Amino acid sequence: MPPRVGKQTRNAPVRQQRVRQSRACTSRSLESSAVSEPLSMQPAMTTRTASCSCGQLTAIVTEDPIRVAVCHCLACQRRTGSVFGAQARFRSGAVSIEGQSQQYVRVGDEGSKITFNFCPTCGATVYYRIDEESVAIPVGAFAEPSFPPPTFSVYEERKHAWVGLPDNIEHMA
Ligand SMILES: [Zn+2]
Ligand SMILES: [Zn+2]
Repeated sequence: MPPRVGKQTRNAPVRQQRVRQSRACTSRSLESSAVSEPLSMQPAMTTRTASCSCGQLTAIVTEDPIRVAVCHCLACQRRTGSVFGAQARFRSGAVSIEGQSQQYVRVGDEGSKITFNFCPTCGATVYYRIDEESVAIPVGAFAEPSFPPPTFSVYEERKHAWVGLPDNIEHMA
């Protein structure tokens, strides 16, 4: 068994909802194959804390992310309330969760699932996962403007026209 995240996490009943109105990013921006392409061979030891708005749900990471991406899909727009989602992926073993969360499962176009864990008090999503090997954390949850920039931009067909991106980012349809 891989290391479990969420030693104090109480999982509430899972609701499932198929995303109909838009193609969701489960299979592209968050694909597990990305884990085999780390930004560096050995993630640097950097401790950061992601938190929900009220602070009761936190994720402490002890390494740099293995991938940082933005996703312009409509499901990410709805989840975040912003016009794109920005997320960082970490090795599961580098993440420890504290606090209570509820789960929401998003089912993507090709049947893949992402399980979002959000604070039942303030509603902010602090982490989510599509496999056992990694944990994705919304970049904004770190509240750290110097956080490593994204290297992938996904679902650009849904991108708002005014959104600007780093020059060297890898663009995906
Ligand atoms: Zn998305
Ligand atoms: Zn909260």
